[in-house]
Amino acid sequence: MVVYKNFETIAIRTQEKRSENREHSVPLYLTSSYVFDDAEQARALFADEEDGNIYSRFTNPNTSEFASKMAQLEGTEDAFATATGMAAVFASIAPFLKSGDHILASRSVFGNTHKVITEVLPEWDITYTYVDIKKPETWEAAIQTNTKMIFVETPSNPALDLIDLEWLGKLSKKHGCLLNVDNCFATPFLQQPAKWGADLITHSATKYIDGQGRVMGGVVLGNKELIAKVRTFAKRTGPSLSPFNAWVLSKSLETLALRMERHCENALRLAEYLEQHDDVASVSYPFLSTYPNYELAKKQMKLGGGLVCFELKGGLESGRKFLNALEMISLTANLGDTRTIATHPASTTHSKLSEEERRQVSIGAGLVRVSLGLEHFDDIKNDIEQAIQKSIN
Ligand SMILES: *Cc1c(COP(=O)(O)O)cnc(C)c1O
Repeated sequence: MVVYKNFETIAIRTQEKRSENREHSVPLYLTSSYVFDDAEQARALFADEEDGNIYSRFTNPNTSEFASKMAQLEGTEDAFATATGMAAVFASIAPFLKSGDHILASRSVFGNTHKVITEVLPEWDITYTYVDIKKPETWEAAIQTNTKMIFVETPSNPALDLIDLEWLGKLSKKHGCLLNVDNCFATPFLQQPAKWGADLITHSATKYIDGQGRVMGGVVLGNKELIAKVRTFAKRTGPSLSPFNAWVLSKSLETLALRMERHCENALRLAEYLEQHDDVASVSYPFLSTYPNYELAKKQMKLGGGLVCFELKGGLESGRKFLNALEMISLTANLGDTRTIATHPASTTHSKLSEEERRQVSIGAGLVRVSLGLEHFDDIKNDIEQAIQKSIN
């Protein structure tokens, strides 16, 4: 296989070898198992003496192609593709921790990742400590002798806080912990955590990687040794990605760079628009010069990402009215779609948290999160403007 150097070319030209049909675009391999030439080949494949497909829970040409592209784009040796982002999160934690171990995690993680850390792992005597993404100076003291993993998301959901990956890479090495970064919000086009020392990288491919709101998927990335453990875990427990979804996701990667550039351009324009708006109390976007971690954003991200958060002056009631007044923008629980999406975390995804817990993860009562789609910017802005007007009256 030819190895390319540039992101766009890797994403487009990395593909499974053509069959005798000489197809230009890679076909869909819907097959559960693969035929052995003879008993000797079957033995050699099962003994890992020969590389090749055996059964689609282990490998499939479509899932292998998707994983191989992702590994090249993230700059890791290997990758394993999973059925969902949560399957990736779990498969990146479970094989590496055992009873008695401890995980240090940023409190600002995705809702179900939070549940895995606080409800699933403790059932197996794996303890955790949460640290505040805005207080990195407190993190080192929270590392224990049995801390085996540090888990973070940057930018965080939904408030878009950042943590310094270079600093974190050094901290985790110093204490012999695995650094696990959920890179879902940035995608490898904006940020490559492996470059800063992340050992494991996870993605929900459901978001920007599909980018069109169609299929679920995930991926875990790392060096050969770590991914071998993930692969064995997945072989035993079965969270593998379906060939159809892998085929869709591999096709989607071909346009990831182009889509991310436009998502980010629309997001920056919206952030700049809202920043000067009289009815908006605050705006958070990593590439706004007023963003508290602007220098860090510029250092570790290529562009600011496709999400913008803002707080309406009218608080909770305004947030609710704003969402009800939207005409084009969708109210749905996804992000990273061609369609612009708005959510109100205080009344939906984070409604079970107390006000104090919401404050810890920077979710104000009137906070609105917008996932910028690829519609014309004027249509996005006009819908937001008319909804803001209705929210204050
Ligand atoms: C959506 C999401 C997940 C979970 O992914 P699914 O594909 O929905 O299982 C994990 N982490 C982050 C940051 C997400 O946004």
